[in-house]
Amino acid sequence: MAKVFCVANQKGGVGKTTTTVNLAAGLAAVGQRVLMIDLDPQGNATMSSGVDKRELSLSVYEVLLESASIAEARVKSSWGEDHARHPTYDVLGANRDLAGAEVELVNQERRNIRLKEALAQVDSEYDFVLIDCPPSLSMLTLNALCAAHGVVVPMQCEYFALEGLTDLVNTIKQVHANMNRDLKIIGLLRVMFDPRTTLQQQVSDQLKGHFGDKVFNAVIPRNVRLAEAPSYGLPCVVFDAAAKGSQAYLDFAREMVARVKTL
Ligand code: ATP
Ligand code: MG
Repeated sequence: MAKVFCVANQKGGVGKTTTTVNLAAGLAAVGQRVLMIDLDPQGNATMSSGVDKRELSLSVYEVLLESASIAEARVKSSWGEDHARHPTYDVLGANRDLAGAEVELVNQERRNIRLKEALAQVDSEYDFVLIDCPPSLSMLTLNALCAAHGVVVPMQCEYFALEGLTDLVNTIKQVHANMNRDLKIIGLLRVMFDPRTTLQQQVSDQLKGHFGDKVFNAVIPRNVRLAEAPSYGLPCVVFDAAAKGSQAYLDFAREMVARVKTL
């Protein structure tokens, strides 16, 4: 059975999507079978996996509304000829349609466990399922939290970083208590890290003091190649595997493989 992780942080622009697609590509590179689910109407994780969100005939939206199964709606990531030797992963894509799901599902029964139920039909086909969450604690994020075994929290080591985590940690506690006893924070991932900045070092030390070994050993540096790759419709791990950012995500993928063995 697959291990299901969502990448969540209600703060915008902290590296959730970058983490999801590069972890997916990194896990595929080390031989894992991966399904990547884009749960953000922005569709950035879809586009960054070489899948055009405007051309999806079925997406995670239909899955949540129960008019399609994941087996029907998934597609393969696509790299083009230049990168064809790189292993692919499966993509359950998203586009603007998904923005309507929240309203359409309000008052519907089992609305928070739609994704969990849909996953149960395919999870034997994968080692990892990764879910990219939107920057909110909405019904969409709740679906991810109900479906997941663990949460990966990407964060920048800034002054208010710890405070910003409080809402997310409280939501995770509530979901754990009421809806999903499996759920836990698998780890905090330091991203966009600049080791030359004293403040970032200090916040990083605070984080380790507070969360201990929940802080992943892998650290993702600030790296312009990570920011460039999406414009080519590729994860950086595929676009330029030698880049510092890609190497860090490959380390992170190996760390995740090791960590799930201890769960
Ligand atoms: P949103 O909340 O809007 O979904 P997000 O949390 O998914 O945002 P990303 O889209 O992954 O964040 O990243 C925000 C921006 O920062 C993007 O332009 C991305 O390319 C860039 N970025 C992410 N990680 C890095 C990094 N390590 N180094 C440099 N740029 C990065
Ligand atoms: Mg995103």
